[in-house]
Amino acid sequence: MRVFNCDHCGHLVFFDSVQCLHCGNALAFLSDALVMAALAPAPQQGPGLWQRVGPGGGGALYRMCQNHTAHQACNFAVPTGDAQALCPSCRQTRLMPDVAEPAHMGRWMQIESAKRRLYYSLARLGLAPAPGRAGPAPGRSGPVFDLLAEVPGGPPVLTGHHNGTITLNVAEADDDERARRRIALGEPYRTLIGHLRHESGHFYWDQLVRDGGWLDNFRQRFGDERQDYAAALEAHYAQGYDGGDWAKNHVSAYAAAHPWEDWAETWAHYLHMIDLLETSASYATEVTVPGIYGAQHSRAVDPFGTPAPDFDTMLRHLVPLTLLLNSLTRSLGQLDAYPFALAEQALAKLRFVHDVVRAAGQRPAAPAAAAATPLQAPAPVASSVIKKIAKK
Ligand SMILES: [Zn+2]
Ligand SMILES: [Zn+2]
Repeated sequence: MRVFNCDHCGHLVFFDSVQCLHCGNALAFLSDALVMAALAPAPQQGPGLWQRVGPGGGGALYRMCQNHTAHQACNFAVPTGDAQALCPSCRQTRLMPDVAEPAHMGRWMQIESAKRRLYYSLARLGLAPAPGRAGPAPGRSGPVFDLLAEVPGGPPVLTGHHNGTITLNVAEADDDERARRRIALGEPYRTLIGHLRHESGHFYWDQLVRDGGWLDNFRQRFGDERQDYAAALEAHYAQGYDGGDWAKNHVSAYAAAHPWEDWAETWAHYLHMIDLLETSASYATEVTVPGIYGAQHSRAVDPFGTPAPDFDTMLRHLVPLTLLLNSLTRSLGQLDAYPFALAEQALAKLRFVHDVVRAAGQRPAAPAAAAATPLQAPAPVASSVIKKIAKK
């Protein structure tokens, strides 16, 4: 994620900022312009309205996302022409845990925060959710999210994607629970943003690969996804995580379970890569890696730059960047932030995701399938019986 500047005074601010610490203005991320902006209350213009105060903002009017107004749980603002109370990221949440319970409130806020990062990357890539793109349900674009909590003695909540709906067990927001699962499953990497990126991959496989004319190419690269999914997963778990030579062909051990999981893991990895590169570009990073062939220099490349960089150009900076990143985290006694080493076949799959994303992002937005209908705030639920395609 890039860093931003307050558009009123120029001070450094971040994607999650809600106030400029220099000029004191309220800040919000504008869901239409995809920038951080300084805003001042403008009740004279209408109830709940805010006005841009930066010199380039033209005094445009916005409303804060209802989750900001009600819970301080979102920092997105929507233009007044948007009929919905929630921002485009929050409105994708269909079910949420009962936030009257303080523990659930904290979990839900963390998940929404990670979800806004996913929203940002997808929007920058020109993918839904974006205005004018048809979604799985009227008034929605992009996947629908059910954020569910287990209740003692109740059924398990399985994180997964099914037919446009992404389910996430909110326990994954707890560091101790997520670490326990990561160790139990022998995974080097397990994060909220990783889950969301992975599950969004299943959603976009339906949209872009299956329905977008890439299916034959996909099968050549990833294998035939018509093989029995449940049996494949069972075999994968029976084998355990140390077995197999998955690293020759896959970005992760789990990716070896089935072509769908291979795609979702590779898609998530592509989004990791895009975010790392954008962050690096916003700091104008230059990396020099010493080696037996002499020092190798690389300069940051903005994945959203113009002209759009090709895959090889991005990869040339990614590799030294992740070496630096891991060396920095080791300096602090932390685990590697980027615990991956990609072999040629895994890189070829990553390149395939890049090609699919680029083709989709350059496609003109489809006409809106239906006028956006105002949605209620998501219904809180304590638990739900849902059988999903399970991820881990
Ligand atoms: Zn400022
Ligand atoms: Zn919101």
